Amino acid sequence: KPKHIAIYGKGGIGKSTTTSNISAALADAGFRVIQIGCDPKSDSTNILRGGDDLPTVLDSLRERGRPSIADVSATGFAGVLCIEAGGPVPGVGCAGRGINAAVDLLHELELFEQFKPDFVLYDVLGDVVCGGFAVPIRNGIADSAYVVTSSDFMAIFAANNLFKAISKYAPSGGARLGGVIANSIQTPYAASLIDDFAARTGTSVVGYVPRSQVVAQSELYGKTVIEAQPRSAQADVYRALARHIAENHESTVPKPLNGPALKAWARDWGDRVFGVEAGIVAPQEAI
Ligand code: ADP
Ligand code: MG
Repeated sequence: KPKHIAIYGKGGIGKSTTTSNISAALADAGFRVIQIGCDPKSDSTNILRGGDDLPTVLDSLRERGRPSIADVSATGFAGVLCIEAGGPVPGVGCAGRGINAAVDLLHELELFEQFKPDFVLYDVLGDVVCGGFAVPIRNGIADSAYVVTSSDFMAIFAANNLFKAISKYAPSGGARLGGVIANSIQTPYAASLIDDFAARTGTSVVGYVPRSQVVAQSELYGKTVIEAQPRSAQADVYRALARHIAENHESTVPKPLNGPALKAWARDWGDRVFGVEAGIVAPQEAI
């Protein structure tokens, strides 16, 4: 039975980069992998395919009525099957519709029966987990969800919102949380901050991905690090993360913090690292 995994996170936090490197690592290790981009940006799988855009499911539905699997997919690095759900025409309609329509179509076309994947990865925008974006975790599409976050407050805020959505839908058969992926780590405190957030919300960190020039350089060639720089330390990080996720059995219903508690927690961290306690900014000087 394939493992269906949704990877959420704030826009620009590194979901597509991380997901694509996990897919590449799993496929390179011999697994059959499908990656489905569920972000209206529709560039989830670009670095698996030389950097080019792929016709989206939603665009194909608009233009052709009922597309075939071949119309809306392409084979990327190491055989990863790449699909982009697509999004609404900007300014019109609901972004979540693309995800719904795409997943419905893929089931109708019996993609999973035919391709027989070991892993299906959904790369989902998580700034707002509205009803549309909650589709992969809401009704049994994904078994587990992960969230990519950095130590920035807005990324943690988005992660906490995902936890709210998971805790809402998990009791009625929704996905549970596999853990947190810490991305763009540059300082020890960033890793500690994310550890602390995970601990307080009842989950754990499954991997720490350093901020690395190797990622940017590989992206300029339209490639994952796994493909472009397989012997780099960064590739080792992604392979370890992929292995961890493949073997992970953690499945929790997280305990999100409420708004004021999250802010107070973030302020404490800020004070400890940059502010009052660190002696850098005394409260009166800050005014
Ligand atoms: P998202 O899919 O969450 O919107 P992307 O995966 O497209 O974000 O990443 C946004 C940018 O950040 C990209 O240019 C990507 O190369 C860069 N990036 C992501 N993770 C890292 C990292 N660990 N080190 C360096 N650059 C990164
Ligand atoms: Mg993306």
